[in-house]
Amino acid sequence: MLLVLLGPPGCGKGTISSHLLSKGNFIHISTGDLIREEIKTQSDLAKKINDYVLEGKLVPDEITNELLKKKILSLDISNSNIILDGYPRNENQAKFLETILNVNIVLNIKVDENVIVKRITGRRICPKCNTIYNIYFNKTKEDNKCDKDGSLLVQRTDDNEVTIKKRIKTFNENNIPLLNFYKSKNLVHDIQNDKDDPKYTFELIDKMLEI
Ligand code: ADP
Repeated sequence: MLLVLLGPPGCGKGTISSHLLSKGNFIHISTGDLIREEIKTQSDLAKKINDYVLEGKLVPDEITNELLKKKILSLDISNSNIILDGYPRNENQAKFLETILNVNIVLNIKVDENVIVKRITGRRICPKCNTIYNIYFNKTKEDNKCDKDGSLLVQRTDDNEVTIKKRIKTFNENNIPLLNFYKSKNLVHDIQNDKDDPKYTFELIDKMLEI
């Protein structure tokens, strides 16, 4: 099964992905993570990509499509379910994806816009195990340290209020055509994910996916 997670920044795609990974046989592919990995290499390409990310703009499709394809080709996906998190982000990417894999289900995660900014500015991430915390809703036991491995948590450089506003704008510009593309194929399921506690969202998704 190939599951696509659609939704604005801060809608909970990462948290839902972690939940699904804990339930079983899933492989998680996030283009945001692939792009951040590439940026760490400090290559010429990395510098170019970093400007787009900090501007809250989409990295050009030809770069993102290649990163995704390379990742998929590197994995043994024959017996696993795949979660695509943050890809596709526009219709052009959705069409590219069709040339590699068939999408089975699209979860359209919705969240009120004023919840987004608080979720993202409060987000902290473990650089070692990628667990996501939030200083408002999902605190660590010890201040700013990962509950699982004790690493000092970090904040993404694009998780600041100015870039967030731009990321939301970019999302709004691309989302309707993308959603319509998948609606015409009858693949879309809406999920409202406004609550601070994601438990009910998880239950809903588990039921939907029968896991
Ligand atoms: P969010 O969903 O909160 O924006 P991501 O980690 O998915 O966070 O993405 C961070 C940034 O990486 C985006 O703002 C964009 O610049 C880039 N990016 C991620 N996925 C894509 C994609 N599919 N196409 C183009 N750019 C992308």
